[in-house]
Amino acid sequence: ACSCRALLSSNFTAQFLPSYQEVLIKPTMNALVATNRNFKLAARLLKLDSKLEKSLLIPFREIKVECTIPKDDGTLASFVGFRVQHDNARGPMKGGIRYHPEVDPDEVNALAQLMTWKTAVANIPYGGAKGGIGCNPGDLSLSELERLTRVFTQKIHDLIGIHTDVPAPDMGTGPQTMAWILDEYSKFHGYSPAVVTGKPIDLGGSLGRDAATGRGVLFATEALLNEYGKTIAGQRFVIQGFGNVGSWAAQLIHEQGGKIVAVSDITGAIKNSKGLDIPSLLKHANEHRGVKGFNGADPIEPNSILVEDCDILIPAALGGVINRENANDIKAKFIIEAANHPTDPEADEILSKKGVVILPDIYANSGGVTVSYFEWVQNIQGFMWDEEKVNNELRNYMTKGFKDVKEMCKTHDCDLRMGAFTLGVNRVARATVLRGWEA
Ligand code: GLU
Repeated sequence: ACSCRALLSSNFTAQFLPSYQEVLIKPTMNALVATNRNFKLAARLLKLDSKLEKSLLIPFREIKVECTIPKDDGTLASFVGFRVQHDNARGPMKGGIRYHPEVDPDEVNALAQLMTWKTAVANIPYGGAKGGIGCNPGDLSLSELERLTRVFTQKIHDLIGIHTDVPAPDMGTGPQTMAWILDEYSKFHGYSPAVVTGKPIDLGGSLGRDAATGRGVLFATEALLNEYGKTIAGQRFVIQGFGNVGSWAAQLIHEQGGKIVAVSDITGAIKNSKGLDIPSLLKHANEHRGVKGFNGADPIEPNSILVEDCDILIPAALGGVINRENANDIKAKFIIEAANHPTDPEADEILSKKGVVILPDIYANSGGVTVSYFEWVQNIQGFMWDEEKVNNELRNYMTKGFKDVKEMCKTHDCDLRMGAFTLGVNRVARATVLRGWEA
């Protein structure tokens, strides 16, 4: 039996909910307010003790550093870098590093917290963290990005490590960024490939890591559809975002016979009701750095992508995109959250009344961090797995995760989001209580 029972009581009060004002200011709720709200709803379902609840919510450590680099033209440019280490009760903290103009402390905090619940839902032995630099990577040259990444690493190298905090790629970063972090970190601590995941294969990266989040989205979608006696084949999909996650999801869904009728990225949105030719679109997007101008489709208004007619909507870009402004107009019956925090709580409520089923981010996109775990294991083991083993293990984890989430939905009579949150929060709460409170 769980020894946290002694700490259980239900003194959750409305004071924990965001104020009416906070909700009304913008169509999109602040990411941290929204994430805290979901956590608190889960804590209430679990009847968590309020002191334990508070301790789970407060981040373990928040790091904010100045990153100044010389630009190629000799002038200086300054950026702010963040790393929020949210919780380490279940193991080393884990999470990506995002390069994006909208990176701010609240967003990084929210994403770090989501990583804590995500690694617990996936049942991999990690806590949660997230980092980022407020910058537009598209405006920086490769050598400027390298300098920025090295300066950031110099500022945080003492606070990350194989058994403390293991960064990975996120929006605006990739294998090359991880290679620079590994190299810079190794100057201080000796060569340590397991300090980051999502590395290039030549530096100890895992086969299958690049596709992992998209492949996890495929497995998650299959698990959900299976509940309804459906398969991917013949379903009509809309995908917002055509970066690493969106493009891999599109490719793998297409291979399974799913029909992708519209996609968008920062360059624009396109539609073909008969189904897009995904291999040609991937080629076009590679050559033109975006989906815009693809001649096998018609351009559509980028904002309308989420309300396009389809069976399954996959947001695979930024947070907060599904909100009270557009939730009512969504036509999909299923939403698979490939992005982190794409749906805010107000939209959750509207969609649930409409009968739309949402597969939440902390389960649906956990394929990326799960294969990051496999990469870390391979680095520590000093033994490389073949891609088939990686993909088979990933399928096992995603299938088990879905079963565990469903079990919590039954126990707490709740939707899939609360099923996933109660699963993650409960696992972290149990680890926290087991480790004890001695100062
Ligand atoms: N950035 C990814 C995520 O949001 C992957 C994190 C990781 O692999 O550590 O889950």
